[in-house]
Amino acid sequence: MRKVRVELGKESYDIYISHGLQQELVDFVKGAGFSKQAMLVTDSNVGPLYGEKIRRLLEEGGLKATIATIPAGESSKSLRMAEELYTKAIELGLDRKSPIFALGGGVVGDLAGFIAATYMRGVPFVQLPTSLLAQVDSSVGGKVAVNHALGKNLIGAFYQPKAVFMDLELMKTLPKREIYTGLGEIIKYGIIYDADFFAFLESHVKEVLGLEPEATVHMIARSCEIKAAVVSQDEKEAGLRRILNFGHTMAHAIEKETNYVRYNHGEAVAIGMVGAADISARLGMIPEADVTRVTKLIETLQLPIYADGCTVDAMYRDIFHDKKTVGGKVNWVLMEGIGKVMCRNDVPEDVVRAAMAARIAK
Ligand code: NAD
Repeated sequence: MRKVRVELGKESYDIYISHGLQQELVDFVKGAGFSKQAMLVTDSNVGPLYGEKIRRLLEEGGLKATIATIPAGESSKSLRMAEELYTKAIELGLDRKSPIFALGGGVVGDLAGFIAATYMRGVPFVQLPTSLLAQVDSSVGGKVAVNHALGKNLIGAFYQPKAVFMDLELMKTLPKREIYTGLGEIIKYGIIYDADFFAFLESHVKEVLGLEPEATVHMIARSCEIKAAVVSQDEKEAGLRRILNFGHTMAHAIEKETNYVRYNHGEAVAIGMVGAADISARLGMIPEADVTRVTKLIETLQLPIYADGCTVDAMYRDIFHDKKTVGGKVNWVLMEGIGKVMCRNDVPEDVVRAAMAARIAK
């Protein structure tokens, strides 16, 4: 079992990572000082597989947990679904010490976390992420949110969980495409923070793609450590945390241009990371050989490097509407080498357009 501490003063918490974590969960719940009533939020894919098993473990820990199942998919991250869960919480008589557990991918985690942050001005929240993306990204760092019809994640909060339990046994049922999605974010951590980790991924492709236990625990734990280190230094995204957006500027434009359907987020980020590496090289910040390494690892780990269905003009327009664009200046996260990035808002239009053109599938 690997344990990663997220240092946030009074809000600090542990992430437990292993194959099988039943006893750790039971022991944690017993000692947490929660009220007896609890809500276990899950989705229509994950709930039937693992909901009852987790509910029984919580019961062993002394909780009476009721399962609330939402339809799987991004459309459940809505204020309407939040209202249904508030109603359920009130009907169940949840009080200020009643915990809310999130069992599922990032959709469940973001929505359940948003409920936990706002119901009675905040109740204890525990994450049990079951997708690779949720494990290495959305469950770490305390961002919780629902979507608005006019944009993703526009209604949200910073709200830290009491603990995060990642039982990698539950990943056996995760569809392949969702695994690749998570791998995109994992590659990102190597690029932005840790050249050795990047090299580890390059030299363990077979183990990584096969989710072999030792390699999987390491890549998840190292990703969580890196995200935790960044978040600990900048919880509310005033500066350093922006480096986590590497690849995301172009990714958001690709997602928008393809109506959030053709590519999932991780796939769009993969293409965007190649784009950001390319911009870095065009600006003379890194050698071409680094772009080749980034591109090759992304491709080897079964992620796309070209976007279908986009035009340069549309993508270029979109980057100015991104949430992260301030005062009309696009904040690019660019590479200074593998393992090191910096933010720049002075990238010339022709460089951006050339890098975008290179990402469009012929
Ligand atoms: P998701 O929650 O939709 O899960 C992907 C799919 O996999 C779903 O169909 C889900 O039911 C299924 N699934 C999950 N675990 C499974 C398992 N073990 N077995 C079988 N099926 C399983 O999507 P996601 O990729 O996990 O997360 C995406 C969401 O996360 C987006 O809403 C995004 O905005 C959010 N996100 C949040 C943050 C943050 O910091 N809060 C960061 C990144 C992404």
